[in-house]
Amino acid sequence: MKLTRQHELFRESLRRTLHQEIAPHIDIWEKERKMPAREVYTKMGKLGYLGLTHPVEYGGLGLDLGYSYVWAQELGKLSAGSISMSLSVQTDIATPLLAEYGSQELKQNFLSGAISGNLIAAIAVTEIKGGSDLGAMQVRAERTSDGYILNGGKAWITNGSIADFAVTLCRTGSGNSISNLSILVIPTNLPGVTREPIIEKLGNWSCDHGHLTFNQVLVPSENLLNEEGCGYELQTRSFARERCFLAVVACSQAKRMLHQVIHYAAHRQMLGEKLLNHQSASFRLAELFSELDLVMTYTSATYEKLARNEDCIREASVAKLRASRLVRSVADCSLQLYGAAGYMTLGGVERDFRDCRASSLAGGADEALLHFISAYLEHSTAKY
Ligand SMILES: Cc1cc2nc3c(=O)[nH]c(=O)nc-3n(C[C@H](O)[C@H](O)[C@H](O)COP(=O)(O)OP(=O)(O)OC[C@H]3O[C@@H](n4cnc5c(N)ncnc54)[C@H](O)[C@@H]3O)c2cc1C
Repeated sequence: MKLTRQHELFRESLRRTLHQEIAPHIDIWEKERKMPAREVYTKMGKLGYLGLTHPVEYGGLGLDLGYSYVWAQELGKLSAGSISMSLSVQTDIATPLLAEYGSQELKQNFLSGAISGNLIAAIAVTEIKGGSDLGAMQVRAERTSDGYILNGGKAWITNGSIADFAVTLCRTGSGNSISNLSILVIPTNLPGVTREPIIEKLGNWSCDHGHLTFNQVLVPSENLLNEEGCGYELQTRSFARERCFLAVVACSQAKRMLHQVIHYAAHRQMLGEKLLNHQSASFRLAELFSELDLVMTYTSATYEKLARNEDCIREASVAKLRASRLVRSVADCSLQLYGAAGYMTLGGVERDFRDCRASSLAGGADEALLHFISAYLEHSTAKY
């Protein structure tokens, strides 16, 4: 990604903010399994970080995607995945859909609040009976003269139990075709919406996750994004940005972990030598370092395509797949080289190991991405 001096100045001030406002609290938030989300969101909103690329008329800064790239990189440097997971849903997954396809009224009612940090957003796609298969979606919104009547449930939703609104994929017609999927913006204070937090989970402890249940919820028809029936198309289009963003976060996390473990191995004595001088360790680290170089370069090039508004969904899927796998390999290698200190000492290496496991699931499971990429196989061979 070509970054200018302005992007780098932005990085410096963002880094200072994260070091002052977030980093010192991470261990305690993780221990308590809860971050003070309202406080974090309003603080970050006031500083402009929640609307970097969003339109100025709704309180955003109207900046280019280079700023969202730097935002993703710096979030990935934090010592827990929770913060990037929660904030990235707000800034680069849920609200871009609203910014791009929402009516003026929807943007005034929801986008402005999300940018200022007064409102917390969620993206609600996954259901208990299927996340990878969008066609299997069961949540249904029936059109009536008063609006839509929504029924069903969404599962494993980031910010799910604290969100003020959820950008929700649902069915607006009979039958199970993807052509009757639509996206509705659901305020979670509507009668019939229940939010249930998920407390016990493997990682990302201080990030909220929850289930949303809709029981005869009357949703104003104005809360529809774009038109009925184009939910599948809008959602899959938005995957390019989401996957690019998540790939950058994962690369940045991998880089942070790799630097940390290289430093450790350079100081840990083993059989009268630095651990780093043992070939099995140095070769493994060199392999991961090389892989990181490749994946970062590829991801950066894909982000540039995204910034130029070029079609890059295939490349974004490749980047997300490889970055997710890489960060997991780095976390695993790191824990191995740290030995029991990595396994037993809470908060550092073991947290990375737990947190980054989600990267191969959230935002599209690895196999779902492979399924998507495999659709291009024959086409690319024909071109060759
Ligand atoms: C930490 C975390 C945060 C999340 N946040 C959100 C959120 O904010 N909003 C939201 O909507 N969802 C969220 N999810 C859900 C996530 O998007 C889903 O977990 C993911 O899409 C997979 O869906 P699933 O869990 O239903 O698994 P399933 O779809 O049941 O898939 C299970 C497994 O089957 C395999 N599989 C999937 N597809 C294929 C295929 N085509 N071929 C072969 N094997 C396949 C994969 O190994 C996959 O892991 C989150 C998940 C996690 C873990």
